[in-house]
Amino acid sequence: MTDVFAAPPAVRVPVRGGGTFPVRRIFCVGRNYADHAKEMGAAPGDPVFFTKPADAIVVDGVVPYASATQDLHHEVELVVALGPDATVFGYAVGLDLTRRDLQTAAKQKGLPWDTGKAFDHSAPIGEIVRASEVGDLGPRTLSLAINGEERQRSKLDQMIWDVPAILASLSKFWELKAGDLVFTGTPAGVAALQPGDRFEARLDDVLHLQGEVLPPV
Ligand code: MN
Repeated sequence: MTDVFAAPPAVRVPVRGGGTFPVRRIFCVGRNYADHAKEMGAAPGDPVFFTKPADAIVVDGVVPYASATQDLHHEVELVVALGPDATVFGYAVGLDLTRRDLQTAAKQKGLPWDTGKAFDHSAPIGEIVRASEVGDLGPRTLSLAINGEERQRSKLDQMIWDVPAILASLSKFWELKAGDLVFTGTPAGVAALQPGDRFEARLDDVLHLQGEVLPPV
């Protein structure tokens, strides 16, 4: 049997040192830093999971301002990239872009977050670096600057669930597979992006992402 139309191309993220990482699914953790949960008005509790489609990934840093929102927010996050047998292949930094106005309205009505979280171009990500090159995560610092001004900064030891705990918890609900990416949550300091903004995210000098928000299409 042949496809009735051309299959969409696989989503791939470059790996430092060569090769590409084929993306299968994107899992996201919400409320994984106490200071961010607090700024969102959430009561202390366990982190939550949601997902984005694989083709929300942006690898060239070019992010069009999202449609249907007046409040597009940045959330800088450590991203875990899973290899065969759901082992940690590597890490990247990414932005969990959020239509905050739509997410807030959905929360108030007890409705799903998809329009606020799982939209096109909502997951810009930097190159993936092998776990052995990144080493111990706890002492490392995640940060985001917009137009050269720092907006978010946290050591990774501030995560409520660390990476092994996230993977253990996710595994209760899904059979994790090679190609899965996990956005591990954001620290405090989330705020609005504007068309023309330039963003630069890093994990110390190990992981890097930079790019620009374009005018709406
Ligand atoms: Mn997030």
